[in-house]
Amino acid sequence: MKFFRSLLSLMLVLVTTLLVSCSGPQAEIPTTYSPEKIAQLQVYVQPIEAAREQMTNLGTLLSEQNWVDTITLLHGPLGHLRADMLGFSRSLLPKDQDAATELAREVFSHLERLDATAKERLVAQAAIQYKEALKDFDAFLNLVPKAS
Ligand code: ZN
Repeated sequence: MKFFRSLLSLMLVLVTTLLVSCSGPQAEIPTTYSPEKIAQLQVYVQPIEAAREQMTNLGTLLSEQNWVDTITLLHGPLGHLRADMLGFSRSLLPKDQDAATELAREVFSHLERLDATAKERLVAQAAIQYKEALKDFDAFLNLVPKAS
């Protein structure tokens, strides 16, 4: 009986410890970007902003129906875009991560379809995919916090 009682009090201590550690101060999930984080993200976003400039060049190539250079641009300078955007998404605050990841996937799926339509030289369809990719790309960049 004595053993049982000490076992019981031991269990009580364990339970109390667990409860305390559960209800203790939680690791706070930040909901705003610190100035340091914003500065860091402004650096991380640079390759993506460079890719956004390539998107403008892509529009020019498409309007010239320069399919060969369009496809080259998609696979060359824009080839790393998916990894860059997904990596960047993960460095955003949790509240923005899902939207950013979703937009990154959108951009990439439009660019994949653009690649396919460019190979088929489907002018109208390529233009639609390009426009959609741009729209999603700009929505992605709008998630990037800016210094106020
Ligand atoms: Zn889309």
